Amino acid sequence: MEKIYLDHASTMPVDLRVLEFAKQYLGSEIGNPSSLHSAGLEAMRAIEAAREKVAGLINAEDEKNIIFTGGATEANNLAIRGTAQRNIGLGKEVVASAIEHISVINPMKELQKHEFTFTQVPVDNTGLLMLDKLKEIVTKNTVVTSIMYANNEIGTIEPIKEISEIVHEKGHYLHVDATAAAGKIHIDVQGDGIDLLSLSSNDLYGPRGAGALYIKPGVKLQPVMLGGGQERGLRAGTENIFAIAGFGEAALIAKTELAEESSRLQAIRDKLIEDILKIDDSYLTGHRTLRLPHHASFRFSHIEGESILLNMDMYDIQISTGSACSSKTLEASHVLLAIGLKHEEAHGSMVITLGTSNSMDQVPGVVKAVKETVERLRKLSPLA
Ligand code: PMP
Repeated sequence: MEKIYLDHASTMPVDLRVLEFAKQYLGSEIGNPSSLHSAGLEAMRAIEAAREKVAGLINAEDEKNIIFTGGATEANNLAIRGTAQRNIGLGKEVVASAIEHISVINPMKELQKHEFTFTQVPVDNTGLLMLDKLKEIVTKNTVVTSIMYANNEIGTIEPIKEISEIVHEKGHYLHVDATAAAGKIHIDVQGDGIDLLSLSSNDLYGPRGAGALYIKPGVKLQPVMLGGGQERGLRAGTENIFAIAGFGEAALIAKTELAEESSRLQAIRDKLIEDILKIDDSYLTGHRTLRLPHHASFRFSHIEGESILLNMDMYDIQISTGSACSSKTLEASHVLLAIGLKHEEAHGSMVITLGTSNSMDQVPGVVKAVKETVERLRKLSPLA
């Protein structure tokens, strides 16, 4: 049976064109970018070329405004801890949406131990941020507000431009985790009024081990990782040139192919949604239209997401139950609870994230497997 990978939000295969491009940076002729000899300069040039390509994907003013990190978790930590600690004079309040990734929520919780107040802004039952609540919560003491561009578990896209206006009316910096959205929808940090934005290479078909933080000129932050002066002193440590060069190439390809690939995936997504919702007691999670083009997420009553995942795997189809980062804990997802689901409802979730290897031809087989899986599990379920 054909293997069908539908879990691109957890990890994406590296694009072969990216691999072909980046492998030149694994050889011994490539030095340490901090070294002054020619091998070092060659490495530095590779990093600067990647910086330009990543800047291009999000329409940054200048490539200097991109800082490479080890991934989006690190970029989120740097954005939040770095701005909060560097700008203590501005206030000791931090704000995030209730559906942020744990790599945003946990640094904010950590700041509470240092006398910061951390407030979460609720979302409605489709995952859209409640803008009236945001207006109430952000004050002149709110140093950083973190709202994701789009959610990785339910696919909902937030109105970032409006959010930016509200945050800047009273508060200070807006940080946006664009890990799930980059390369799938158009992002313009200048047009959207974003101060800090996180990206991950692996969510763009790039190698693992690279991420980036966009920092708008004038935004002040202090490093989290201390050591050498790499990355304008904001991220010490010898650069992972292979991953960074690959990340740059992946960003360039994503930008070039975004419009065509996103509309191709959106058609597959819509057919999957239409057909899967014909199964009894099945529901879409997240927003029907304001959602990522490659993202379809559902819940089925009376059954467990983990059993769905394992059963689907027997058909050689890989899906997810939600956040890969916490999928081993078997706790109900904080995102699904935040959109108002009860614990037992939140446990029956299934997330499909499409990618380059998927096609419309796969839809009937996937829908059949989901239907048979749900029916089989319901027969066994004491809850049904
Ligand atoms: N933010 C979001 C929205 C994510 O989906 C993820 C995981 N892909 C991360 C942050 C963490 O990314 P990384 O694994 O690159 O640290």
